[in-house]
Amino acid sequence: MAPYLNRNLIHLEGSLGQFRISNRLDTWSCKIGTNAVYTVEDLRKKMDEFTPTLPGPRVEWLKEVPLKVLCFIWRAKWGRIPSTQALEGRGVQVPSIICGYCLNGVESADHILIQCEFAVIVRNWIMNWCGINPGDIDNLDTLLHSVANWSQCTTKRRILTLICYGMIWSIWKARNERIFNQVKRSPTQVMDDI
Ligand SMILES: [Zn+2]
Repeated sequence: MAPYLNRNLIHLEGSLGQFRISNRLDTWSCKIGTNAVYTVEDLRKKMDEFTPTLPGPRVEWLKEVPLKVLCFIWRAKWGRIPSTQALEGRGVQVPSIICGYCLNGVESADHILIQCEFAVIVRNWIMNWCGINPGDIDNLDTLLHSVANWSQCTTKRRILTLICYGMIWSIWKARNERIFNQVKRSPTQVMDDI
């Protein structure tokens, strides 16, 4: 008999040898929580223990923000939104990867949402409206990081986060309206939406 089969057999015998037949009824018990009772909360905690900590600022899962918007922000943070640069990278034929609004850079996630002239005008206006110095922001990570570390007051920070998520989503929607529906919305109209 191969050595590993022999080892497995010995292990199996050892495991089975620990079992004792009982006269009581069989029951189920859950080992991940307290009181041997399964709850979704306990499972969630257990899963969090195994979830690796991802680098960079985290996306806040705020209940006031629609799930599709949160998912979009999360994907945008990782550059996983269908910008023309991303589509080209996946082998989709696109007429040009240059931004159709400013013609001043490759249309990446960071370009659309942060670096494009359109995004800069909207962001500066929103930041001024909130009484914040827009600062030097050149990618989505930097924006999320500065929002996550702004103000000691959690309520104020939460409101600013909500506004920023709304801003990012509105810029993306305006971009899609321009490309797919030929509707040209000005930065001022987008600011009004936000
Ligand atoms: Zn642009």
